[in-house]
Amino acid sequence: MPDERKPKRERIFLMRRQDKELWREEIAQGNDIARLVISATNQWFEDRRNGIAFSCVCCEKMFGSADGVNAFIVNIPIRQSDGKVMAIPAGVCNECGTQDDDWIIDQALCRPWLSFWPPGDSIH
Ligand SMILES: [Zn+2]
Repeated sequence: MPDERKPKRERIFLMRRQDKELWREEIAQGNDIARLVISATNQWFEDRRNGIAFSCVCCEKMFGSADGVNAFIVNIPIRQSDGKVMAIPAGVCNECGTQDDDWIIDQALCRPWLSFWPPGDSIH
């Protein structure tokens, strides 16, 4: 069976914390990818506030409720049954965030992070 849930490199977007304003500017200019990336990361924070536990996509260290997130890997698109396109975010911890973009994306691609999604399926 082909592994359709495995993320593909061309669908992976890396948003570093220091670039968040640039992504917001992209949204203002009508960039739909940027809109999906930002809304996915906002959802991640909301889910964490609601008690969902996330680990770093690179090293699998668990994020505490107050831990900073250095960057996000966002996988686009997943088309849902209602036709909407969904983006799946994964956090990168502060230590892993010091690595370069290729390293982070390589780590993310070899982890089964999509299988942890949606959060509604995870153990509370
Ligand atoms: Zn990490």
